[in-house]
Amino acid sequence: MKSFDRQRDIMIREHLQVRGISDQSVMKAMCEVPREEFVSEQFLERAYGDHPLPIAEGQTISQPYIVAYMTEALELRTTDKLLEIGTGSGYAAAVLSRIVTTVYSIERVSGLAAAARQLLKRLGYTNIVIHEGDGTLGWPEHAPYDAIVVTAGAPKLPQPLLEQLAIGGRLVIPVGRSYEVQELIRVRRLSEDDYRSEELCGVRFVPLIGEEGW
Ligand code: SAM
Repeated sequence: MKSFDRQRDIMIREHLQVRGISDQSVMKAMCEVPREEFVSEQFLERAYGDHPLPIAEGQTISQPYIVAYMTEALELRTTDKLLEIGTGSGYAAAVLSRIVTTVYSIERVSGLAAAARQLLKRLGYTNIVIHEGDGTLGWPEHAPYDAIVVTAGAPKLPQPLLEQLAIGGRLVIPVGRSYEVQELIRVRRLSEDDYRSEELCGVRFVPLIGEEGW
């Protein structure tokens, strides 16, 4: 088997660069985070494959390209305050934490939240704060956020997330009428009452379960 460093290089060139990921801060973050630490033992050999992988509790760690694509779509600046809904393995949070000052991340499954918290601590990520709860309600205590990313498929745009977006802020979220297939949407808050929404691409995520989700 090729070393993980070598596999990471191949992933960067063949899955990200070739498909047009060009933001250097995103590329650097994807280079820095050891994805092999976030996948379970049985999938280690496929850690850098061009696909999502199963994690505990019937959930998934997203495909590397999708993590990079969503991160780029957030148009992050280093000073941004960011909220992630769906911590899962903690991989995307780790990538995001290489770009912004603080990542707030919410996970509804307590076992996943606890495991991600422990892993990120062991790996030395000190700017990620994980909360166990229903992310469709956001995290009002730290709002407003310059960027919000949802890594599970929603049936509609969750109103609390729109309200917790700063003016000028971006929300990137998969939205779809079915449980399995969604459109990736970017919403910009232009003013107090004005939002602009654009469709980015088709995606497949596990469902966003909660009060403002499924
Ligand atoms: N970002 C993750 C990673 O890097 O491993 C992948 C996340 S996985 C595709 C989606 C996650 O969203 C699952 O862990 C699931 O439990 C979580 N989830 C679903 N509904 C949620 C909700 N209402 N609030 C918080 N997390 C939720």
